[in-house]
Amino acid sequence: MHNKKSLLLLLTLTLVWQASPSLSHALENTAPTEGMVDLRILETTDLHAHLVNYDYYQSKVDNRFGLVKTATLIHQARNEVKNSLLFDDGDHLKGNPLGEFLARIRGIHKGKIHPVYRAFNFLGYDAIAIGNHELNYGLSFLNAALKGAKMPVVNANVYQVKKNKPYFKPYVILKRNVVDQQGKQQVLNVGVIGFMPPQIMKWDKANLEGKVIAEPIVDTAKKYVPIMKAKGADIIIALAHTGISSEPYFPETENAVYYLTQIPGIDAVLAGHSHGIFPGPLFSRLPNTNLTTGQINTKPVVMAGSFGNRLGVIDLVLEVKAGKWKVIKGTALTRPVADEHGKPLVKTDKALYRLIQNEHQETVDFIKKLGL
Ligand SMILES: [Zn+2]
Repeated sequence: MHNKKSLLLLLTLTLVWQASPSLSHALENTAPTEGMVDLRILETTDLHAHLVNYDYYQSKVDNRFGLVKTATLIHQARNEVKNSLLFDDGDHLKGNPLGEFLARIRGIHKGKIHPVYRAFNFLGYDAIAIGNHELNYGLSFLNAALKGAKMPVVNANVYQVKKNKPYFKPYVILKRNVVDQQGKQQVLNVGVIGFMPPQIMKWDKANLEGKVIAEPIVDTAKKYVPIMKAKGADIIIALAHTGISSEPYFPETENAVYYLTQIPGIDAVLAGHSHGIFPGPLFSRLPNTNLTTGQINTKPVVMAGSFGNRLGVIDLVLEVKAGKWKVIKGTALTRPVADEHGKPLVKTDKALYRLIQNEHQETVDFIKKLGL
């Protein structure tokens, strides 16, 4: 009798144990829960003025890049979910003939908006970061261009020399109405902070010396995260215009993403600068990294290539209980605008194209006039 009982108990336990993986799997797909919020975060990075799917050097259409293509991925990714935010991770003004033409030849017409920021306004970016290449045309060109950007522009680790205070807005807390899985409105305060490599002081010495200084990225993050939390940020997203490397930590590192993921309070990292794709095979040797879920040190990270060839997508599942928010899950992936043969996977956003068509055509005409 006794033995039978133990056997039965063992059998029951085994059954429960065997059932549990499918049970937890079933839970993930069960009824929507009040207080559970799905939040999608979208990233473009290192656009380098590639607004149009056009190669100015070869004077032909190239469907492997261009924000007019990424824009269609943005619309699709937004339409799939209830709550989403869109960010650019920097290096958006310079890097192709359109960017050069605007900055060095034509300039920004008085009262007009730089086409990159016109495009960002049209697509409704929630915030953007400044990349190191934004500094290449000098601070006065950047400041003039930024006047046309309707969204917050963040960077925390560049300081004014004279006043010893941040040169840009270091962070922003976006108050957003989100809808939970049951359709109930919740208010979420999203902290967004920006970084760029401190190497700008070497790379752009002539433009920057005597005007600004750059602080190490990780130190700056550690300084601001508690401040952002105290100011009410429920979650914190880093717009980190810096690459991904696990080389031993040193404060002045150019590629700080790995160490940003180790900072408590940072919930997601949008990476850039090195034009790689994360998650992707390039990072298969990175420790504590899951290329299936797109996590480094359990935090979701995304790096969406360059020139608008991919859209970065982070999906967060958040839980709010008595006003306290917690990240339950965070996964990341990228979506390409074309397949590996260059065959387009999405259509051009024609409305966006029309909006920046003039500057594109002026650039094409200018190249023609030069006889290039
Ligand atoms: Zn870049």
